[in-house]
Amino acid sequence: LRNESAKLTKENQVGVGTVFIFHFCRIMKRLLISVFVWGSFHPLLAQDIDSLFISRLFQAALGEGKVYEDLRVLCKTAGPRISGSAEAGRAVDYTHAKMNEYGFDTVFRQEVEVPRWERGKEDSLRLDADGGVPGQAFPVCALGGSVAGELRGKVVEVLGWNDLQKLGKENIQGKIVFFNRPMDARMVHTFGAYGTCVDQRVYGAVWAAYYGAGGVIIRSMNPALDDYPHTGTLIYADSVARIPAVAISTNGAEQLSRLLKENPELSVKYSLFCRSFPDTLSHNVVGEIKGGTFPEKYIVVGGHLDAWDLGEGAHDDGGGCMQSIEALRLLKDLGYVPRHSLRSVMWMNEENGLKGALKYAELAEENKEYHVAAIEADRGAFTPRGFFIEGSEDNLLKMRSWLPLLEPYGIHVIRPGGAGADVSPLKKKEEKPVLIGFIPDSQRYFDYHHAATDTFESVNKRELEMGAAALAALIYLIDRHGTE
Ligand SMILES: [Zn+2]
Repeated sequence: LRNESAKLTKENQVGVGTVFIFHFCRIMKRLLISVFVWGSFHPLLAQDIDSLFISRLFQAALGEGKVYEDLRVLCKTAGPRISGSAEAGRAVDYTHAKMNEYGFDTVFRQEVEVPRWERGKEDSLRLDADGGVPGQAFPVCALGGSVAGELRGKVVEVLGWNDLQKLGKENIQGKIVFFNRPMDARMVHTFGAYGTCVDQRVYGAVWAAYYGAGGVIIRSMNPALDDYPHTGTLIYADSVARIPAVAISTNGAEQLSRLLKENPELSVKYSLFCRSFPDTLSHNVVGEIKGGTFPEKYIVVGGHLDAWDLGEGAHDDGGGCMQSIEALRLLKDLGYVPRHSLRSVMWMNEENGLKGALKYAELAEENKEYHVAAIEADRGAFTPRGFFIEGSEDNLLKMRSWLPLLEPYGIHVIRPGGAGADVSPLKKKEEKPVLIGFIPDSQRYFDYHHAATDTFESVNKRELEMGAAALAALIYLIDRHGTE
């Protein structure tokens, strides 16, 4: 300012009025620029700008959000949408149209070959009664990918592989193995309990066939006691027979176990009529908003569009899909111009093949697309708690520095952890993106997971909206501040 006024004195003879106005304007311009630059780099003011914008995101999501209605339409018009089904095709068309309707810059499909499996309508398990009278029925469903079969036999109850080893072939051959290990209720995080329990569903049929069993009954992966069987994928091995596999509800499992204690000679009869078909053509759907500064660098958020066939795939994973679309829509409708290109990705076939995720990563590598970060939303549409990070220590520290901005919304967890199945193939990319898993509250997720209860009605509107805003806030922070 002193320099400016000195110059001003020298130039007095030119005409004080004109020169003063000229310099006043220059100073004001510099001041404005310095405030702007200072605002961008000074930590306090930058945080103020971020916290203001994040609060607008949450207000928009809760006040004028579209995600709840979008999810309702997906659940009620596409419905259960296992890969290769007509319903999955409707979900592809619907999300494609939705992202166009929201004015994303580009929306496109990626062709994916997917496996196709269909359940028969009469999965049943009954006590084997005498004299042609049908015995008591249990609530069951075929596990995804199971072969069909009708069999009757004595039941051997086990908790896992160790029990099979102890019993040996002589006690298992020709029988039906009943895996009845419950999810461990003492574990606070239900995904942990699921992780330590799901081996019996995935490998149970192979283990039992190895010892000569004719079929398996698997206790549903459900922490609650109810009458709904939960399906899910199983894996067969070429080295042993493919035996039919059925899931029984948790109440049914408790009852069957009780009956077996009373009568170890108990025999059951079960029938599954599922079928596998040749692979069929399906699609991932990708919506994109072009970045202003780094259009060739991507930040991706997504969920899987396919869902098991018993419910409506509302939590798993219609919610994650529609939140991923909503996150980008919120940013766009608030007038945010991203520096990086943003993508919302609907992966196909997570449940029984992961073919969509593999195809997406393959094309990203082929097209030399640089991915800065990939966020997966596939843990239910419950109250957001935070994010798991798969990246470097620097990535983690950087993202943790954003916690004060997110804590007002109940988001307090940013820690190392698995991001999810659909983003995992991106690890193979030459330029590795930071992989991020969205963490909602986990307490109720497995009550609905892969069961007929996973319907739109089981989703809470505000929890779903809060999740969409949380994703949008994280995308905004990554876009604005980078990942390291
Ligand atoms: Zn899922």
